[in-house]
Amino acid sequence: MKTIKVSVVTPDGPVYESDVEMISTKAQSGELGILPGHIPMVAPLQIGSVRLKNGSNTEFVAVTGGLLEVRPDQVTILAQAAETAEDIDLDRAMQAKQRAEQRLNESRQTNVDFQRAELALKRAVNRINVSRRDI
Ligand code: ATP
Repeated sequence: MKTIKVSVVTPDGPVYESDVEMISTKAQSGELGILPGHIPMVAPLQIGSVRLKNGSNTEFVAVTGGLLEVRPDQVTILAQAAETAEDIDLDRAMQAKQRAEQRLNESRQTNVDFQRAELALKRAVNRINVSRRDI
């Protein structure tokens, strides 16, 4: 099987690097699957999971959106934050989810606070799902 090099990079440094047979994730325009030989492109991502398949092994990385760039020999995902499933602190994500839900339920919210809380909730739920490989 052909493989392609993939790196997930954040402002804090690289989070994941490997050669994989297939990358699946959610672009803002919908589900995206990248195989070796894919045409070069750049796509903005949703808060979501990146699935990295190699043989019978599949790994998961949680990303908080960002950009995916496909070049002939390399796929790069640049995100503000990203964690492999093993690196996710599940308790922290559960607490973040609870805080975000509380903020969404509080009545006197400005729109800005509401949107911030919605994004925080999405990040937390995504981390919980990736940590549980429930995706
Ligand atoms: P929290 O409220 O728990 O900080 P957050 O969604 O506001 O969550 P981010 O701003 O997305 O956090 O991330 C800040 C940094 O903390 C990033 O480096 C991110 O990888 C890390 N991080 C956030 N939540 C977790 C988690 N549950 N497990 C491991 N690392 C995390």
